[in-house]
Amino acid sequence: NDEEASATAAATNVDIGAPTIFDKIIAKEIPSSIVYEDDKVLAFRDISPQAPIHILVIPKSRDGLTQLGRAEQRHEEILGHLLYAAKIVAEKEGIVDGFRVVINSGPTACQSVYHLHLHVLGGRQMKWPPG
Ligand code: 5GP
Repeated sequence: NDEEASATAAATNVDIGAPTIFDKIIAKEIPSSIVYEDDKVLAFRDISPQAPIHILVIPKSRDGLTQLGRAEQRHEEILGHLLYAAKIVAEKEGIVDGFRVVINSGPTACQSVYHLHLHVLGGRQMKWPPG
């Protein structure tokens, strides 16, 4: 069942298309601190912030977009929408003059939740290269 598949995916960090914790956040079954929302995307504060401002931007409908590495041409529009939403979030948070957008795709990149998401990070001096 869905719950078992989610537990397996979380334990092994593999993309098997199982439901994720973000479904519950979208459904507002578990609370999150929402900073921006429209009909297609939701942006909320990361539970484990890696910068003073750390917000996740996700599509409300995953539609097969478990990770960027699995994107298909039909996802072009939502991918653009997510990136523009990241800019709106940066503006709302007062960091539009300097912020970072990160997408971890797959286990090697340490992706842990298989529902595509953009990390919007800011409020401190960033370093390069990232780890
Ligand atoms: P990834 O490692 O897949 O790129 O990023 C997943 C992110 O989701 C992590 O930064 C993690 O802290 C965040 N996260 C995981 N579970 C929750 C949750 O229940 N609520 C919120 N707000 N963030 C979460």
